[in-house]
Amino acid sequence: MTVVADKEPVYNEFTGKPLAEGAPVFAAALLGLEPPRYCAYCARRMIVQVSPDGWTARCSRHGELDSKSRER
Ligand SMILES: [Zn+2]
Repeated sequence: MTVVADKEPVYNEFTGKPLAEGAPVFAAALLGLEPPRYCAYCARRMIVQVSPDGWTARCSRHGELDSKSRER
């Protein structure tokens, strides 16, 4: 199951802070190498699992994200 990836994110997935605050994002995170730790839509902490071929991160409200969904 995939998340509402087409929604506008509101929070920084790595710090849990509102994007409006303009907190810096790590380079590895931008490349999709680092799993997000907070849901971009509600800032809940997500359950992160790292596997050899990527990662999945799950919000109890918004569902699951995975590294494959971030590949461009
Ligand atoms: Zn969420």
